[in-house]
Amino acid sequence: MGKHDTQISTSTANALGAKAVFHVSNLAYEGEFQDTDGFSSDVQDGDRPQEECGVFGIYAPGLQVARRTFFGIFALQHRGQESCGIAVSDGKRLRIHTDMGLVSQVFNEDVLAGLPGHVAVGHNRYSTTGGSNACNAQPISCLSSDGELAVAHNGNLVNTVQLRRELEAEGKTFETTMDTEIIAKLLAMNSDLTLEEAILKMMEQVSGAYSLVMMTRDTLIAVRDPSGLRPLCLGRLRDCQNNDCWVVASETCALGPVGADFVREIEPGEIVFINSDGIESVKFKGEAPGHEPRQALCVFEFIYLARPDSQLLGQNVHAARRRMGHLLAKQAPVDADVVIGVPDSGLPAAIGYAAGSGIQYQEGLIKNRYIQRTFIQPDQTQREMGVRMKLTPLDDVLRGKRVVVVEDSIVRGTTTKRIVQMIRDAGATEVHLRISSPPYRWPCFYGIDTAARKDLIAFQKSVEEIRAYNGADSLDYISMDNLIEAVGAPKHQFCRACFDGQYPITIPDDVRYTKLVFESGDPGPESEGGFTLNEAGEIETPQEHEARETVGV
Ligand code: SF4
Repeated sequence: MGKHDTQISTSTANALGAKAVFHVSNLAYEGEFQDTDGFSSDVQDGDRPQEECGVFGIYAPGLQVARRTFFGIFALQHRGQESCGIAVSDGKRLRIHTDMGLVSQVFNEDVLAGLPGHVAVGHNRYSTTGGSNACNAQPISCLSSDGELAVAHNGNLVNTVQLRRELEAEGKTFETTMDTEIIAKLLAMNSDLTLEEAILKMMEQVSGAYSLVMMTRDTLIAVRDPSGLRPLCLGRLRDCQNNDCWVVASETCALGPVGADFVREIEPGEIVFINSDGIESVKFKGEAPGHEPRQALCVFEFIYLARPDSQLLGQNVHAARRRMGHLLAKQAPVDADVVIGVPDSGLPAAIGYAAGSGIQYQEGLIKNRYIQRTFIQPDQTQREMGVRMKLTPLDDVLRGKRVVVVEDSIVRGTTTKRIVQMIRDAGATEVHLRISSPPYRWPCFYGIDTAARKDLIAFQKSVEEIRAYNGADSLDYISMDNLIEAVGAPKHQFCRACFDGQYPITIPDDVRYTKLVFESGDPGPESEGGFTLNEAGEIETPQEHEARETVGV
């Protein structure tokens, strides 16, 4: 079935209660995936939040959809580069192929030819809950009241530990370490209910972020959590004779490559069923544990995570990033000769800053377009060269100039510091940093893998201290008001927690458990990541904790 050795396995399905689900798994990969600090998909890995996952689904009677699913998840590759997978059904049998690696590494013509059918879901993974290894690749499968079910998940549950303990106390065993398996398990254990009823019941049990794309042998299903943390959209194929072919995807950028037009976003708390009866929408009206009763789309999708050609809340992401830069120029002007952006996600805001300031925009840093995640570890010398393997300064643009450098975010600050030095080494006389997001002070628990709070530079240092640390002549961040104006929707429609600490879904006490808690067996220290919880379950800073301890609150 491809250049790698494969075998047909029922192990995952059996662990989830299924009897006859074929899980076609590529076994060529052995051992742990090595994250390659300094070599991965974007310029500032390790110094910025990591993308989460991408999900894709298609229902197209009369068509073979594995190839389109390939192009769908290929378009969503920026959302996860560790593993990927596709499940396909021809109405009789559901087949799944998953493996570690990029979409272009995992799938080829032979593999796709072995996945016949007209319904499919696809997934790209970056590990959030559950480590990065082959058994955690998605889609995963289970047995529902409608038979075999494949599940692909973007987001992160926050009550994973509690639910897993409850399920284990009932005798359930787990084959993976993913929160997605908890969702599958909850659906599988309610096989006496209809699938719709089981999904609604699951939504009353889980807390956190989930955009799900699932399929039975004949039905495609999309589910978005009641807060709508992660994006999910609906599209329609243009080349479908009966106009009954549908696509769901994390982002609208995945629609064009498969020949689909954008129809609408899947609403927060909406469940969509697509099959030979047509398309049916069901709204969750129950109580989702810990969720504020409002939409809370991750505002960081606009700043960095989403592809610039995607649409979110009716806004083009690239245009929103340009507006961020434009507003930042008005808010934080500086006398300078040239504006440059840090590729790729800083470029639209840099163009906007140039337009807003009247200072010329130029490309001042060139990115090596061919650096991707690789299994090859850099040696120490290469690590020290770090950024230079990914970015090269254009000396002719920078020499003798006062340079404004626009970047989308500073998380740890380590890479930004190297970029500032690189620009100075190229001959710039002044370097002024402008950041198109507010200071990143709080960790994310909803599917974005950020540093522990103690490692967030804006938690540790003031803006002036960050400027000094990075060796810049000046530093300014966009204000929250200007960010919200740039994204063009009311503030209350967004999660902004990494900037203001206002979490729209309650974080349970076990937040201190790391994403690898199930592998390590370590329950974690009482205070993890530099923060603790007060008795109300609210996160507090070390200073707040110390003050509370001191006064005995
Ligand atoms: S905490 Fe930040 S990164 Fe996480 S969902 Fe909220 S806005 Fe997005």
